[in-house]
Amino acid sequence: MDDCLFCKIAAGQIPADKVFEDDRALVFRDISPQAPTHLLAVPKKHYAAVHDIPPEEAGTLFGRLMTAVCAALRATGLDKGGYRLVVNSGETAGQTVPHLHIHVLGGRELSWPPG
Ligand code: AMP
Ligand code: ZN
Repeated sequence: MDDCLFCKIAAGQIPADKVFEDDRALVFRDISPQAPTHLLAVPKKHYAAVHDIPPEEAGTLFGRLMTAVCAALRATGLDKGGYRLVVNSGETAGQTVPHLHIHVLGGRELSWPPG
């Protein structure tokens, strides 16, 4: 995608504070953190939202994305405490960047249910 912020970050065209990267995924720090540790895990391939991923690709894509999340949890020490994974999909869920991403939040008490 030419005009996608997270595609540009994944391609290295826009800088980001990277925590983990492999050939399929990138994890970097959110520019506007909502918790002491707030990471974003993105697949390098562009999909706007969860339901846009073709069924035959979903297993591999999410498998590799979760592999990156696990590495980032260990790299940041979040694995030692509590954390939350969040995917906002669509405007009513608060998605502002239309490139699939998993928020990883930790380092403070997280209330439930979310607002
Ligand atoms: P969402 O609102 O779920 O689509 O999440 C998008 C997230 O991207 C927000 O938490 C923003 O703070 C974050 N964000 C926007 N621009 C950047 C950027 N250049 N680098 C890192 N995070 C960003
Ligand atoms: Zn994109």
